[in-house]
Amino acid sequence: MVSIVLLGMQGSGKGTQAQLLAKKYQIQHISTGDIFRDNIKNKTILGQKVEAFLKKGELVPDALTIAIIEDTLKKCEKGFILDGFPRNLEQTKALDTVAAIDLAINLQITDKEAIKRLSGRRTCSQCNAVFHIETNPPKKKDVCDKCNGRLIQRDDDKEDAIKNRIAIYKTNIQPILDYYIEKDVLFTVDATKRIDYVFEEMCDVIDALG
Ligand code: AMP
Repeated sequence: MVSIVLLGMQGSGKGTQAQLLAKKYQIQHISTGDIFRDNIKNKTILGQKVEAFLKKGELVPDALTIAIIEDTLKKCEKGFILDGFPRNLEQTKALDTVAAIDLAINLQITDKEAIKRLSGRRTCSQCNAVFHIETNPPKKKDVCDKCNGRLIQRDDDKEDAIKNRIAIYKTNIQPILDYYIEKDVLFTVDATKRIDYVFEEMCDVIDALG
């Protein structure tokens, strides 16, 4: 049972790597972004509450986000990998009260690379699979290879929202990194490298946990 937090700027590959890790270690992939997007798609009360924040690329209020994570972790009976949570110090401290984190992995990339990756990203409207128009195009334009769903550009992958999300990330990340350095669980990876290389590097660290 391993409990992992994935940190990194939008576009650093958190979602992709989290899916790979969840499969290999048979742990639960918990993405707050996916939870919110699914709720918006299904027009739930939660979805209605959070839709405007996601559209603008702003953070959903802590009280709401923390309550969702607490609830999700309570139901989680195996290890987990958190993708997109925590996003600020408040959330980091709250997480500590519900789960002990074995490893916080920081996927590091530059702003320029993040903008390039996000603006070309296309996401499946049905299964959340992620493609890139240049580096990982679908076989058929705008159609998901996995489920034939329609590929869309997320509202928050449009230029103004991307800039907003990166600015928020930069304001909030250092205290989170400091917190995990203090706990001696932080590991940083160069996420500009190939997906399989980054994945292997993370697996080595997880395997070393014993
Ligand atoms: P992501 O898919 O992780 O980039 O998240 C997409 C959007 O969901 C973010 O821009 C926020 O609006 C919202 N969101 C996701 N995770 C959090 C979080 N931990 N705290 C607040 N808002 C979040």
